Amino acid sequence: MTARILDGKALAKTIRDEIKTEVEQFIAESGVQPGLTVVLVGDNPASQVYVRNKVKACQEAGMNSERIDLPKETTQDELLSIVDRLNNDPAVHGILVQLPVPDQIEERAVIHAVTPEKDVDGFHPVNVGRLWIGEDALISCTPLGVIEILKRGGIEIKGANAVIVGRSNIVGKPMANLLIREHATVTVCHSRTRDLPGECRRADILIAATGQSQMVRGDWIKPGATVIDVGISFIEKDGKFVQVGDVHKEEAMEAAGALSPSPGGPGPMTIAMLLSNTLKAARRLVR
Ligand code: NDP
Repeated sequence: MTARILDGKALAKTIRDEIKTEVEQFIAESGVQPGLTVVLVGDNPASQVYVRNKVKACQEAGMNSERIDLPKETTQDELLSIVDRLNNDPAVHGILVQLPVPDQIEERAVIHAVTPEKDVDGFHPVNVGRLWIGEDALISCTPLGVIEILKRGGIEIKGANAVIVGRSNIVGKPMANLLIREHATVTVCHSRTRDLPGECRRADILIAATGQSQMVRGDWIKPGATVIDVGISFIEKDGKFVQVGDVHKEEAMEAAGALSPSPGGPGPMTIAMLLSNTLKAARRLVR
């Protein structure tokens, strides 16, 4: 068997084009341009790249995008007062403080400070709670992107046994919730799971989000299952660093029915979902 590729890069392009059209309509109807402000504290090189990509994607979708760069010595109070200003700025519909923040700033304080209505990362406890109880919420972008990959890839979620490896607040837990919403039967695995390969083998839909490079092997996959690789890590190969996922791609291609690989799977979808969340926030705030 050779797995069908669920191409997150191509799907992200389609969705970004759709959002661009929706943004044009929204502006025509409301006279308001949706706006995202991204705040970056410090000079972490990976964060610089993420922030640049997010700002560019917003601009390409016809949204207004502001970037605020703060020095790495910024205090928590200084950052929170900027977030407060953005919370009260009617031209700003989405606020994203790029994580991680430097040690003197408590991540939790930042997550709590962004008003839930503009929390386009979906990290605020109010949005997490709304997701859990089935209310309309802004939802964490990466798991939201995985659901889009499954739905638009024609994968039946209802009634499926879904196994998620990873239980973080930004991927594993919201992923579990979204799958429950879609009527899957969900198992969440983590570093203390007793028989990880055995749990994975029961999955009709297997989602790996651990950051452990190529941990999921071909014989962990039920023949014909759908595998989604969220993990991003780098290994040295032929003297170069190459990006790989949590899943051993070549083995998974043999075992799975469908595979959304890393790179090229959920990664590109995350930004598309950020744009979607920003437009959603703007729609709710501009009435
Ligand atoms: P975290 O480090 O917060 O969580 C990792 C999870 O994996 C934890 O629940 C941990 O278990 C579990 N885990 C780690 N090692 C093992 C193991 N050997 N066996 C079973 N479970 C294990 O990571 P994130 O959730 O933030 O990210 C996960 C991966 O997804 C990373 O590679 C990250 O780069 C990538 N990612 C990609 C995104 C994108 O595509 N845009 C966005 C976000 C993340 P325990 O809780 O027991 O410690």
